[in-house]
Amino acid sequence: MFWETLTKLRKPLTAEIKLDFGNAAVIGGLDGYMQAETERALAGLATGQIPSEAEFRLQRLHHLWQRYADVDIAERRRIVQESCRLLDELDAGYQLPDAGERPQQAPENSDGAAADGNHKKDDPAPTGLHPASSNRYPASSIQHPASSPQTPTPKPQTPGPCSLDMELTYLKGVGPKRAEALGKLGLRTVYDLLYHFPARYEDRRVVRPLAQVEPGAKESICATVLFPPQTRVMGGRMGGGRQITRVRVGDASGRADLQWWNQPWREKQFQPGMQLFIYGKINEYNGMLQIDSPDFEIMGEDNTLQVGRIVPVYPMTEGLFQTALRRAISNALDRCADSVEEMLPNVIRERFNLSDLPWSLRQIHFPDDWTFKEQARARLVFEELFLLQLALAQKKASAHTEEVGIRHVVEDDKIKKFLAALPFKLTSAQRRVMNEIRKDLRSPRPMNRLLHGDVGSGKTVVAAYALWTAHATGHQGALLAPTEILAEQHFSVLTRLLKPLGIEVALLEGSLKTKQKRRIQADITEGRTTIVVGTHALIQESVEFNKLGVCVVDEQHRFGVMQRAALQHKGQDGLRPDVLVMTATPIPRTMALTVYGDLDVSVLDELPPGRQPIKTVKIKPAQRQRAYKFVLDEVKKGRQAYVVCPLVEESEKLAHLKAATALAERLRAEELHDVRVGLLHGQMSVLEREEEMELFRAGMRDVLVSTTVIEVGVDVPNATVMLIEDAERFGLSQLHQLRGRVGRGEHPSTCVLLGDPKTDEGRSRLSVMTKTQNGFEIAEHDLQLRGPGEFYGTRQSGMPDFRLANIIRDVEVIQQAREAAFDLVATDPHLELPQHQQLRQALARFWGDKLSLVQVS
Ligand code: ADP
Ligand code: MG
Repeated sequence: MFWETLTKLRKPLTAEIKLDFGNAAVIGGLDGYMQAETERALAGLATGQIPSEAEFRLQRLHHLWQRYADVDIAERRRIVQESCRLLDELDAGYQLPDAGERPQQAPENSDGAAADGNHKKDDPAPTGLHPASSNRYPASSIQHPASSPQTPTPKPQTPGPCSLDMELTYLKGVGPKRAEALGKLGLRTVYDLLYHFPARYEDRRVVRPLAQVEPGAKESICATVLFPPQTRVMGGRMGGGRQITRVRVGDASGRADLQWWNQPWREKQFQPGMQLFIYGKINEYNGMLQIDSPDFEIMGEDNTLQVGRIVPVYPMTEGLFQTALRRAISNALDRCADSVEEMLPNVIRERFNLSDLPWSLRQIHFPDDWTFKEQARARLVFEELFLLQLALAQKKASAHTEEVGIRHVVEDDKIKKFLAALPFKLTSAQRRVMNEIRKDLRSPRPMNRLLHGDVGSGKTVVAAYALWTAHATGHQGALLAPTEILAEQHFSVLTRLLKPLGIEVALLEGSLKTKQKRRIQADITEGRTTIVVGTHALIQESVEFNKLGVCVVDEQHRFGVMQRAALQHKGQDGLRPDVLVMTATPIPRTMALTVYGDLDVSVLDELPPGRQPIKTVKIKPAQRQRAYKFVLDEVKKGRQAYVVCPLVEESEKLAHLKAATALAERLRAEELHDVRVGLLHGQMSVLEREEEMELFRAGMRDVLVSTTVIEVGVDVPNATVMLIEDAERFGLSQLHQLRGRVGRGEHPSTCVLLGDPKTDEGRSRLSVMTKTQNGFEIAEHDLQLRGPGEFYGTRQSGMPDFRLANIIRDVEVIQQAREAAFDLVATDPHLELPQHQQLRQALARFWGDKLSLVQVS
């Protein structure tokens, strides 16, 4: 039987690859075996058992293997590959006697060395990045008529089309139980499964003889089952009545026991003579090698997924389920990868040199080589970031073209008056940014702008300008802060800036009495109040505006695309208010391109004149007295100082209060007993806090002991010392904000970081602080140190979680994907062109039900 002959010839080739071309896949040498088998097949030509068309290729095969024993590994690899190719060709030329006898998989590539065979005729060639094989070649070209689990019963010869959206239960090998287990991982469709990427890989390519394995190491071995498995009940302290099932295996160089606890059913899996690939941690006990619960494959019985190759390790799963997942994914790849439609337009794939999708999906899961894995990753990362940027580009485009906003037109004279009333002359950066905002506000399309800049760069006055414009054109302005304390601070600064112009700013606070609150709400609803400050929650939930024109959102990294979307509905008469998003510190470039990627960006990259550099020093707690001495010296010179209390969990408000009070009392009694020490903490009422702040501002207090309530906005030019207790517990941007409270006047200032960091990250934070005062640099460090997850708070920000992309590592790709996406949306905003239909589907799949929220706000 020709089919059987081909199978016999193929089988050992897979083993040979795994054994690193050692000519050891068959006892006595593979070369001898291959020649003997081809000779037998050639003899079959005479009896008609082998079709005559096969002769030429069989001859070649025979010839190839004559040299095998004498050549080097590279040449052996070529011989094996060439053999696989010839076998594929033989296979392809072979006519089925009947549909049931062979597996349904159509022979795929007549040109096995070049491609995956997954490119349809009208599809241009793959970008040509990936040489040689895909991971199913040659392994999957081993086909088993009877034993293949993929063909339980004869089925139609060509598999039906496989859609990424197909539910997993329709996939062969995934029964209801497995589907349920996969569902727990959030994997429901073929797409979910194929895009469930490995967290890491194990390189199990090197297969060692048992004589050479190292106890303690994880190794791949290839061995034969020597005896029937045995299960025993283990007594004694260690055994505890548990059952142990042992399988003794051996190769030419040694023996080992595979063993499992409490899995007696394993016995049925093994019979003497069976050849196994095994991977696991090697132990040695009484001179005997043991491997507990190894991963194993029966040689040649299956696609070899787990041994002798680079093996994927999936996130959130362990043990047996890894194996099941590998099988499920491999099945899905076999069944579906070829019919997955390429969604990246060819021009883009060519421009950025990206591999095609089916190949990339295979290689990311079962890489044939590390470089292939990297190529596959590069493509899939690009895809992910491209789909993100596409949605952002669409959102931006639709905001520009489809939404109607308010034209805020203010005469130049009025603007001059506004500027004249300011207590300072604007920096050129402020003037530039105000002009950008002015253009947005005058235009009938709604403003969607991000304003960021370093601590103290003067963002508040820019925000005030935007709010004032709303007032000046007969509309209302709202400033939304993330916390009550920040709302209060914005309120007092805005009041100082706008009161001279005769404008009353309102503060809407949660702690107000119901009656007061109602009055303020009514004033807003009826249009008597034009500018209001409050927290996001308060304003969004409880206020009906009369004519909201401009909304400034202070985000502090806590807000994102989704929340902004909710806010933008607040306009009247279907007119969208203009939105200015403001962050307290600079944001890293990657964040500007992703989380804020749908916005126009304004940057204040210049500090007002006369700022003094701030000296920053780290001091160990043991030298605390030196720090207080320094504070004392500054106070004697007439300066003032902040002392920031250790950070306490948000939930432990009482602890917060106690810590701050205790510290203030101690300082008053001991180190700073001649000094007027004030105290400020979050448990004080607004009025008390305001009073305390006023006393400090007026110079009636020399030192202000405070919790982080002074983090943002406080502005006392005479304060020259910022002493931070337990500094290692604060985040980088928080430290930078705190430091920004000093250095605001003519005197040189110092930031003292008291701390004894126990972690590398803590140490890095403090040393970054001493090395740079540039908020942009600090923001980048912060992102690096905290990692994207925490920095972004992705769930909150409304971004999809990245499966593969790494915001720090893939900055360049973000930029490329962004350009490509924005270019594409410029020509085809709604993805209506026929060549963009796959992309459109992919976009919907990628975003799921979030898409509408992101696109249309
Ligand atoms: P940010 O919010 O960007 O950290 P602020 O808006 O609080 O900065 O401004 C910091 C300090 O600088 C405030 O005291 C503010 O009055 C002052 N300031 C802002 N712009 C200027 C300017 N152009 N010239 C001088 N001082 C300025
Ligand atoms: Mg500010």
